[in-house]
Amino acid sequence: LQTTLALIKPDAYPAHKNHIANKLKQCKLTILNEKELHMTLGMAQEFYREHEGKPFFEDLTTWMSSAPIYAMVLEGPSGVKAWRNLAGPTNSETARETAPWSIRAKFGTDGSTNAVHGSDSPESAEREINIIFNINTDS
Ligand code: ATP
Repeated sequence: LQTTLALIKPDAYPAHKNHIANKLKQCKLTILNEKELHMTLGMAQEFYREHEGKPFFEDLTTWMSSAPIYAMVLEGPSGVKAWRNLAGPTNSETARETAPWSIRAKFGTDGSTNAVHGSDSPESAEREINIIFNINTDS
């Protein structure tokens, strides 16, 4: 079993939370921990630090800290991959063409406003879970 971090982003939370949570069961993903949070800008910048310097970094971090989101620590067989497959391709328009069953196909808008986040590796999952669940949110 592998652990990963899922976030329901401001465009999909709270409206689609229940639908997304119900889909997890079909993929043998169980929720180990979950909470609503409102990220500070500093948290969002730390969370997305691999994208620092890219043209979308400021919009992304401002958006992710603009409203409450929902975080879930998921566990399941090949958990990282299972959740990313359910989420679908980063770009929601691509998702509608290639993965119409996916969460981004259903609830995302485009390449930036895309409903959910999923860690891309077990190492990323550990780092991201620490940011979301362990570190105080003052910074
Ligand atoms: P996530 O990390 O959110 O699960 P991902 O791993 O599929 O998504 P990344 O490449 O890590 O995608 O990008 C992180 C997030 O940054 C994307 O989910 C999206 O919201 C935003 N993003 C990525 N690429 C672009 C882009 N070219 N233009 C605008 N926003 C982008």
